[in-house]
Amino acid sequence: SIIRDKIDPIDGASDAQLSAIDGIAKEFDLTVEKLSEIIKHFCNEMDKGLSKNGMTVPMIPSFVTGIPTGNEVGTFLALDLGGTNLRICEISFEGKGAIKIKQQKHKVTENLKAGPSHQLFDFIADCVDKFLSEYTEFVTVQPGVHDRKLKLGFTFSFPVEQTAINKGTLIKWTKGFTCPDAENKDVVFMLQEAMKRKNVPVIVTALVNDTVGTLLSHSYKDPNTLIGIIYGTGTNGAYFEDIPKIKKINFSDDSQKKMIVNIEWGAFDSEKKVLPLTMFDNKLDRESNNPHYQIFEKMISGMYLGEITRNILLHLIDRMLLFDGYSSKDLNRHYSFETEYLSTIEADETQTLDDTKKILEELLNIPSTTLIDRQIVKRACQMVGLRAARLSSASLAAILIHCDKVECGSSVGIDGSLFEFYPHFSARIKKALQELFGANADKIKISLARDGSGVGAALAAMLAAQK
Ligand code: BGC
Ligand code: MG
Repeated sequence: SIIRDKIDPIDGASDAQLSAIDGIAKEFDLTVEKLSEIIKHFCNEMDKGLSKNGMTVPMIPSFVTGIPTGNEVGTFLALDLGGTNLRICEISFEGKGAIKIKQQKHKVTENLKAGPSHQLFDFIADCVDKFLSEYTEFVTVQPGVHDRKLKLGFTFSFPVEQTAINKGTLIKWTKGFTCPDAENKDVVFMLQEAMKRKNVPVIVTALVNDTVGTLLSHSYKDPNTLIGIIYGTGTNGAYFEDIPKIKKINFSDDSQKKMIVNIEWGAFDSEKKVLPLTMFDNKLDRESNNPHYQIFEKMISGMYLGEITRNILLHLIDRMLLFDGYSSKDLNRHYSFETEYLSTIEADETQTLDDTKKILEELLNIPSTTLIDRQIVKRACQMVGLRAARLSSASLAAILIHCDKVECGSSVGIDGSLFEFYPHFSARIKKALQELFGANADKIKISLARDGSGVGAALAAMLAAQK
């Protein structure tokens, strides 16, 4: 696809409009010098996080040390609780890299995200029970009676202070989850208790972050994989680290050389030292349900890009520079400007921006828009989308530098709706990597690792079972 890293011109706009937009564009601009400064700070924060607990970039040891060979065989369950969906999978490893998957998906309602945690975990247990009864080969002759204790790997896509492969306490919810009583509790324990309450014959043998799962499943296919990344509702990355470099843990098993570390990079620079935050970001942060947390994530991930854009539009409306000063009930509602709209608007190549018009007038009920209005909106989307992709390249670049892989390159597995569907996202990342690393950027192999976290959780359950 074309790399859209130049902003479209706006014909016929007034001087006041142009100067306001240029001013905002300047704030969203990320030069390669600024990127380098961010990367340098990121590398320092990684080192700090490896040596001490409680840093803003948590650098969480995953206790996943084995690397799958591709020859493993066995059937495992996997559960994937992400920002938006709950997925239950039965995954059969058949050797020689062959995998068979059966899966079921459920939406996690806003009610479940905010209610008491036993309600959320009971819901999960019910879904697993339903899956076992309807879908798997585990079911026995008698309906509802399952034949043996099944091993399950749990992908839990939130920051967890992990103390073993099957133990870890939730540090803090992200991505709009708020269940009040779950923080500081053991996630595996909560899940296992719910399974007991509901008589579901499952043992939770591994707990992994989605980035860890994505990295594991991608390295099952490509042993040269160093990094697993999610650019979706939230954002984060994990990589293989030399165990002696993880100074904050004493790991006794000398036979193991590498361990996956979950960076939790969404928390990067929550002190707001180097990130080029604008008033639109600060407003979003202030009004969010976790102010002063996940600052990097709030500039990058799918949950927030629409809201940043909405803040820009409101600012221009209040200055009478957009929609003739009119808004709508819908546009005034938090998070009403969905990141999916940004995708559509950035992809809108029609002469009169018809798709953009539809979103603004039909979905958001703005009374009327001119072509200039729509061009301004498109520009706002481009600024926000381009900055997100360039910031995304910074964390990726920092890991490559940290691991000394710039010269030799490596493979990176990436999952998430933003990476998969947002126009120009991956091309923009590649372009930024070229600006940073020159020809060496070609040695970085970036690929989509769709739904890797489920397979990864099952692999972690299998690696745990081998010990
Ligand atoms: C969470 C991470 C997760 C990421 C991507 C973030 O909000 O803190 O644990 O990996 O989202 O799902
Ligand atoms: Mg996910």
